[in-house]
Amino acid sequence: MTDPEPKDDTTADDRRGAFSAWVPGEAGVLPRGVAQQARARLDRMRTSGRPAADPSVGAGTRQDAPAELPAATLAAATRVVGAGLAPPEQGRPFLEGPTFAAPFHAAGELSDAPYYYGRMGNPGFEAYERALGALDGGHAVVFASGMAAAAAVLLRLLGPGDLLVAPTDGYPGVVHIAKEHLAMRGVGVRLVPTDDQAIRRAAKGASLVWIESPANPGLQRLELEETIAACRRAGARVAVDNTLATPLRQRPLELGADLVVSSDSKHLTGHSDLVLGHVSTGDEEIADQLRQWRTLVGSIPGPFEVWLAHRSLATLDVRLQRQEEVAAAVHAALRDREDVSDVRYPGFSSVVGFDLGSPRRARAFLAALDVVVEATSFGGIHSSAERRDRFGDGQVTPGYVRLSAGIESPDDVVADVLRALDLSS
Ligand code: PLP
Repeated sequence: MTDPEPKDDTTADDRRGAFSAWVPGEAGVLPRGVAQQARARLDRMRTSGRPAADPSVGAGTRQDAPAELPAATLAAATRVVGAGLAPPEQGRPFLEGPTFAAPFHAAGELSDAPYYYGRMGNPGFEAYERALGALDGGHAVVFASGMAAAAAVLLRLLGPGDLLVAPTDGYPGVVHIAKEHLAMRGVGVRLVPTDDQAIRRAAKGASLVWIESPANPGLQRLELEETIAACRRAGARVAVDNTLATPLRQRPLELGADLVVSSDSKHLTGHSDLVLGHVSTGDEEIADQLRQWRTLVGSIPGPFEVWLAHRSLATLDVRLQRQEEVAAAVHAALRDREDVSDVRYPGFSSVVGFDLGSPRRARAFLAALDVVVEATSFGGIHSSAERRDRFGDGQVTPGYVRLSAGIESPDDVVADVLRALDLSS
């Protein structure tokens, strides 16, 4: 037996009435009652500053926002998704769009205006800094690039009579600043390889020890906690370049470091579409000094870059996991090859290093790649590789290739690398 046809008892007048009960609202067309209730709820929220109870819900039912879970109980994968976002507000986006402003409206005294000029501050910077600070465990200051962040620490915190210990085999920009700008200001510079014992010995009498672990491009890894502790016992501040690890794999402030420096142009943002950097520190006074330095020299990022970075940060955990899967597969495949030597992988993150014996073979290998693109930098979603010694820093052998694993299929990347190795041998 089939159900009887539902009978339409409404009259034409009823139907006209039902139609006229739909009214234009801010989000399109809403039934009249719903629009009115939503607007009343929004007004109550605006005056009370928090989500209001819905009077249409039975007595005793609470619609208040639940108490926030303590961040420490949440996995990094969860924290990175919501890091730095403002509390939910009815009708607002999850991540506010970029604020493009040189001057802001700012009448009266400057203290009456939260923002008055773009070089001093911008709401987008603050949201991104909240996110980075929460992940690093400190106060974050965003800069126009990783080098602007490094320069702020080196030039603002060191002066005549100070001594810097810096790695000979880390990102070379730090050594360039030390040799070309710190030395002439009376700052002593002691250069050491990325090696625990060498750093601990050099820390005696130092004002600041600059550490990179894992180091770029050689991928050396330190016993970070012990080495930081030894440097601090020697009376030095410690800054750790955490670019390769990201706060999801290593949090130097928790390991005792005074400062964390990062090129956010790499994994942290991961889409190879922007240049950015930051410093985090547990010391609010140092954070203020760095922020004032940024204002003075104008090493501020653009609002759109910061917004792109904040948007990209949410996917850091999934990107990193896939990149590590690809990197581990490439590492395993390379270790089995007799025509590849000195295969390196720090055990996390995206970068694999290996030696192809000569610049000629390295160039032939790079030219034969198809899925993996030839490019500098690392940490992006596209697998890439380069002969690192083409920069002429002398930090690695002439046939050393640095490969950055992307988020493609591990099988496709491994097949591409093996094919290119065969073609270039
Ligand atoms: N630190 C490391 C480890 C780097 O690899 C880089 C750049 O490659 C930097 C700092 C400098 O960062 P940026 O290029 O964002 O200025």
